[in-house]
Amino acid sequence: MAGKPRIVLLAFDGFPLHAFRSTTTPNLWRLGERGGFSPDGGRSGLPSTTYPSFATLLTGMGQQKTGIRATAQRPGAVPGWAGEDRAQTATIVHAAIDAGLQAAVVMGDHRLMRVLRLDGLDRSWPPRGTVPVDTELDAHGYPTNAAVQPHALAAAADRDLDLVFVHFNETDTLGHDFGPSAPETIDRVRKADAIAGELLEALAPDWDRTVVAVVSDHDMTRRLPYPAIDPTASRDCAGLVDDWIADGAAAWLRLTSGVDAHMAIDRLSAVEGVENWRWREPNVLLLLAAPGRVFAAPSIPAGGIHGSIDTAQTLAIVGGGHPAVASIAESIARRSPAIRDWSPTLAGVLGLELPDADGLDLVGEPVLKSAS
Ligand SMILES: [Zn+2]
Repeated sequence: MAGKPRIVLLAFDGFPLHAFRSTTTPNLWRLGERGGFSPDGGRSGLPSTTYPSFATLLTGMGQQKTGIRATAQRPGAVPGWAGEDRAQTATIVHAAIDAGLQAAVVMGDHRLMRVLRLDGLDRSWPPRGTVPVDTELDAHGYPTNAAVQPHALAAAADRDLDLVFVHFNETDTLGHDFGPSAPETIDRVRKADAIAGELLEALAPDWDRTVVAVVSDHDMTRRLPYPAIDPTASRDCAGLVDDWIADGAAAWLRLTSGVDAHMAIDRLSAVEGVENWRWREPNVLLLLAAPGRVFAAPSIPAGGIHGSIDTAQTLAIVGGGHPAVASIAESIARRSPAIRDWSPTLAGVLGLELPDADGLDLVGEPVLKSAS
């Protein structure tokens, strides 16, 4: 049947991109072979961490608009000069509901629901962002994939839902604790793929009108045994920074008032372990660590880390029987999609407008001609 379109956006937090292959993830691989996928993955923003990536994924907007710049939280910094703790903008889910469509979210990271303002939705799990007391939790305190699965399956099987967003967290937890290539992590990836297989089966009755997008928020890299970076510790940098907050392999820094920014960038980017930087505001810098390096923080995972450039890549798979799938597949095979492209693309399929989105609509991307 043709009928109205159905969108299912499936996200695996911290999915190790190298594990997307026919042998490890046969269900996702088959989806990608029949639909399409980006061979080099998609691109997340920086820092390549959970909250900024999901805020951009679900709004199609950059951090300047969402206000979500870091996953780390510390009052004064976040919320404060390094960003907000609640998104400043509505998501595609809100836009769908405002347009009278039926939407549901099922999330393995209940804290993220609050960040994205999805905790107020009628159709959400955990309800109101509060994890029911008898829920099985992973080592980081998030609902396990097995605990999320029945709620995800129920949403997939509810044929009245026009838009479903499902988030599974455990690949991130295992990647942090054991590293992205550890047997424990790969075992969880295989199980996540099996869950994806069941979800895809539940979507089968409406396949012809369905678009399934499978994404992640960032990659994961093995932490190397170097000391954590404190960008304020060297004598060369004394007095340059008046506050900073680590976000994994990235760090937001606020320069001391009156300090020359160019001189500060020269010195801070020369700190051992710092690989790159972005200048976001006159006095706010993002420092990015070399692969395997991490910034000093109260708690640092032992196995895997993310936040810098080397982990700014995501799963990018599309499938389903809706006519838009072929067009999206062609686009992402040709060019790694940015994480902000998904919402404008999927909104377009639903007939929704996201006027403030910064991403591209990957359906029928126009061919540019040289201007003379
Ligand atoms: Zn994440």
